Amino acid sequence: MENDAIPPEFLEPEGDAERQDPDLVLETTSATLRGLWKDWMCKRGDGTFVDVEFFGRRIGGVPTLAVDAYRALEVALRSAGYRPDSRWAYNCRLIEGTNQPSLHSAGIAVDIDPDENPFSGGDPFAGKFGPDHVAAALAIRNTDGARVWSWGGHWNTPDRMHFQLDRGPTAVDVDWDTVPGGRPEGAEAGAIEVKEEEMVLSKGTKSPAVKRFQECLLAWDSKALPKDGADGVFGNETVDWVGRFQKSFGLDKTGVIDGVTAALLVAQKK
Ligand SMILES: [Zn+2]
Repeated sequence: MENDAIPPEFLEPEGDAERQDPDLVLETTSATLRGLWKDWMCKRGDGTFVDVEFFGRRIGGVPTLAVDAYRALEVALRSAGYRPDSRWAYNCRLIEGTNQPSLHSAGIAVDIDPDENPFSGGDPFAGKFGPDHVAAALAIRNTDGARVWSWGGHWNTPDRMHFQLDRGPTAVDVDWDTVPGGRPEGAEAGAIEVKEEEMVLSKGTKSPAVKRFQECLLAWDSKALPKDGADGVFGNETVDWVGRFQKSFGLDKTGVIDGVTAALLVAQKK
């Protein structure tokens, strides 16, 4: 694809560098995956994507073919006791410092709890993901017996938040007998509940996640939120400052923290 097809606001780093040693852990390299999934790159909205819920929240669109793989990843992580606070898949952007589109641009990678599972050197399991969580995710096989997901925590510099499909579009049929936790009700593709709301966090929400994003706003502009500060309450002041933040990045000023806004906010604290 042409680099100029990617809007500049998506070129900001989100702290997920996708730098890796392919020989170490990937069965299909990211370069090969970019080719296999090229028809999906930055094409959300063309009818080959579907918005699914992953741990109860929309994650920005995934290829329809990959819905079962995502559902299997959720079931496997749940069975190992993992519960995320935040997660996001689709993001049309380049890998930081390169001219290569991120696999998030095809919706075939998902970042889970970026704050708790940072991209940094050292012990792969220094974040929230432990060995049991990762083993459960990597146990998922396709109907040919091949691994469906790989984990960025295994890369030379652990990218602990990042899981990506390890297969092309013709090889993501999940063998549910291999999924820790087994096949859930309605696991067949097409039976996924899809909600209409686009938003991730909006006015009226009170949660630790709101506080985290308010801290990101303060990292972006120390004069933000002058009345209430990072109080964990999504009130009018937060709506206002989220809007200002979005405007500064050329996004629609919605005052709602959607996936792209969230990724840009998180990048402010790096
Ligand atoms: Zn990622």
